[in-house]
Amino acid sequence: MITIENYINGELIPPSNNRYLDNYNPSEGKVYGKIPDSNEKDIAKAYSAAEKAFPIWSSSSVEFRSKILQRIADLILENLEDLALAESKDNGKPLSLATAVDIPRASSNFSFFAKAITQFSSESHENNSINTINFTLRQPLGVVGCISPWNLPLYLFTWKIAPALAAGNCVVAKPSEVTPYTAYLLAKICMEAGLPKGVLNIVHGLGASCGNAIVEHTNIKAISFTGGTKTGEHIARTAAPMFKKLSLELGGKNPNIIFSDCNYDKMLQVTIKSSFANQGQICLCGSRIFVEDKIYDQFKNDFLEKVKQLKVGNPLDKQTDLGALVSKEHLEKVDSYVKKAVEEGGVLLHGGKRIQIENFPEGYFYQPTVIEVESNNCTLNQQEVFGPVVSLMKFSTEEEAIQLANGTKYGLSASVWTSNIDRSMRLSQQLKTGIVWVNTWLNRDLRTPFGGTKSSGVGREGGLEALRFFTEPKNVCIQYSPE
Ligand code: NDP
Repeated sequence: MITIENYINGELIPPSNNRYLDNYNPSEGKVYGKIPDSNEKDIAKAYSAAEKAFPIWSSSSVEFRSKILQRIADLILENLEDLALAESKDNGKPLSLATAVDIPRASSNFSFFAKAITQFSSESHENNSINTINFTLRQPLGVVGCISPWNLPLYLFTWKIAPALAAGNCVVAKPSEVTPYTAYLLAKICMEAGLPKGVLNIVHGLGASCGNAIVEHTNIKAISFTGGTKTGEHIARTAAPMFKKLSLELGGKNPNIIFSDCNYDKMLQVTIKSSFANQGQICLCGSRIFVEDKIYDQFKNDFLEKVKQLKVGNPLDKQTDLGALVSKEHLEKVDSYVKKAVEEGGVLLHGGKRIQIENFPEGYFYQPTVIEVESNNCTLNQQEVFGPVVSLMKFSTEEEAIQLANGTKYGLSASVWTSNIDRSMRLSQQLKTGIVWVNTWLNRDLRTPFGGTKSSGVGREGGLEALRFFTEPKNVCIQYSPE
């Protein structure tokens, strides 16, 4: 049984109330660890450690901060195997995915911002008619809060922490209570890397108590949050009267728009991934598949053929395509959406059931599920399921495809499959999303702005946008004498 502890002021310590929550292994459906059930007292402790560390960390040289972040990145890679195993055990995702994507990406987050901060510059504006020069001084905000979800645990946790630290802030961070393990291992790595005490504090616990205490803390200057839209709304309401800076990366209901002139084989192969990677639990998954009517029947057959070949199984097995869903509650939620889709007239083409895997009778495994729908207004096309469930629907014109794609409250990402460059440009302009992928999916360049529109969030992270978010721009105006 693993016991996870909070990382506060450079030490691993128990929660102030000494209470712990159960941590489940989703593929076994069994408790395998304990995590602190922290509350506002622990957040207050973490805040004062961060506040104390801030003057020295924020005034340390960029080279010093960069070196420490790079050391953390290197140590993540040195511990790749252990971290990937921990992520797979905690989250249920295939070990192969955690090894190839999640953990290397967590390391890249640190190495990217270790370098980016050395290149971060600000603007200056000279006006020689009045002999002034204005420049923008970008200073760290102080103590900031980072709250992340369970689907890409270390990947998204570090995506926030790395730029915050690079820019000179001190951090109070909370990973999801459902997947705390790799954040705990990251604390140990930070200790080994020589991160000064108090600069990063990781507090474990429930969103409603521990997470909320971060948002409610009057002196925490900014919140970078990734999670559900409902939680995002709550955070926005709580933080607004305190005028905190907010970056909210929320839910999605992303369209995958397939035109008959696309590179069919490539589209088919990538669409399998964009539908079911990480059990469909990626905010960027293309859960609404819109196919041009000319190739709809062919696509339906070929897609289903490939879906039937997907192997749901032991996350540690190399052949596994889909592991377990993250929790029993989530599995029940996914299943209820499938039932509702069928009640509303959707045609279940494949899947739709929890399955038992040999040697894992209590694991939270669910079949990859494909449902054909007739209307974009059905619940399945309007609400985020966040599981291995996609809908298929046909369209006949480009205008109709755009209308369908834009016809939800979400606006995170969209994929467009076409070989017509003019059409790809028209769609890129008209889709109301923060990201448009043309003939690809989840192709991430860390320099690019990342975020959503509408109910998918506000603000952008990624590249220099993240460094801008984590700094306060101060205009300094100097008048000089021309003599
Ligand atoms: P939640 O919103 O439930 O939780 C996200 C984080 O917020 C968790 O750490 C959670 O803690 C915490 N939290 C919950 N309630 C509060 C609160 N009142 N105050 C402060 N913190 C709180 O999301 P999930 O973890 O279920 O993640 C899935 C969601 O995340 C999906 O909607 C998905 O689309 C979205 N997501 C968005 C991404 C994007 O970039 N746009 C990327 C990845 C996911 P705890 O879990 O411990 O309760």
